[in-house]
Amino acid sequence: MIVYGPIPSRRLGQSIGINNIPPKTCSYSCVYCQLGRTTQMQMERQAFYQPEDIFREAQIKLKQLESEHKTADYFSFVPDGEPTLDLNLGKAIRMLKPLGVKIAVITNASLLWQDDVREDLMEADWVSLSMDAASEDTWRRIDRPHGKLKHRDVLRGILEFSNVYRGTLVTETMLVDGINDDDACLEGIAQQLALIHPKKAYILVPTRPPAESTVRRASTESLKRAVAIFRGVSGADVACITGDEAEEGFFFTDNITEDILGIASVHPIRDDIVDSLLARKHADRSVISTLIDEGKLIEYAYEGKTFYRRNLQKS
Ligand code: SF4
Repeated sequence: MIVYGPIPSRRLGQSIGINNIPPKTCSYSCVYCQLGRTTQMQMERQAFYQPEDIFREAQIKLKQLESEHKTADYFSFVPDGEPTLDLNLGKAIRMLKPLGVKIAVITNASLLWQDDVREDLMEADWVSLSMDAASEDTWRRIDRPHGKLKHRDVLRGILEFSNVYRGTLVTETMLVDGINDDDACLEGIAQQLALIHPKKAYILVPTRPPAESTVRRASTESLKRAVAIFRGVSGADVACITGDEAEEGFFFTDNITEDILGIASVHPIRDDIVDSLLARKHADRSVISTLIDEGKLIEYAYEGKTFYRRNLQKS
C-alpha cells in the first residue's frame, strides 16, 4: 500500500501518508532509525512507483474519507526510507496538488545539493529537514551516511534550499545521548539553524526501538540545554517532541522574563536574538532593562556585539 492513514500528527494534523520508497531504501542508516538498519543504501535517485498509481490511491483515500465526513490536512511523504531518492517525487507532488490537500515532505536533506531534488521540494507546502549534526564526525556517527556523501555538500544544499524555498520550512534534530547532545554539538547545530531560519526547530528523542540497541535518548537535562542553546544562538522557535507532554511543556513558559533568564543561564544571548524572542511574545526592551536593574542579567560586549548572561549570584 503506497497511501496509508490518515494518521493524527501533532505537526500536520490529519495526515495521509505517502510511502513512495520501498523498505528500507535510504542514503543514511541512522543509529536511531525506527525502521531498523538500512538494507538498500543508495544516493542515486531512481523511479520506484508510478506517480499515476500514487495519485489513484490518494484519490481513493480522499473519497473514502469524504464518505465518512472526514477531511485530511496534508499528504505527507513519510516513507520507509528517504523520499527524495524517488526520481518521480516532483511529478507525484504536482499530480496530487489539484486534489486540494497540502503536501508535506520529511527528508533527511542529504540530497539537497542536487538541483533536481531542490526543484522537486519547491513544489511542497511544508518541508522538514533533518539537522542532527553540524560536524562531519558527529554526522557520520549518528546518521551513518552513504560513503560517497560529503557533509559540506549536504550543509550547502540545505542552505541553498532554505534561501529560495517559500513554503513552511522546519527542522528536526534527533538527540541521542553521548553522540550529539554535548554543548559543542548543540552550538554547531544552533549556528546552522541561525543560517536556515526555520519556521520551527523541532528537537526529538528516540521514542521507538532504534536500529542500534545501544542508542539511548538524550536526558531531560540535555534537552533543556538544547532548547536554551538553540533559542539563545539562533533565535529559532523551538519545540520538543519526546512523547511525554508533561516533559515537553517543562522547557517552555508563557513568561518571557523566565524564558530569557532560563536561556541566559545556559548560554549568553546576543542582542538581536533577544529582540526576536521579545517580538515573538509581543514584549519590549523594558523586560531586559528591568532584569538588568534587578541585577539578574548582565550586559557585556564581545567582538563588537552586545550579549546578555545570567547573573548566577542573583538566581
Ligand atoms: S534518514 Fe530516516 S529512514 Fe533513513 S535511516 Fe535515518 S531515520 Fe531511517
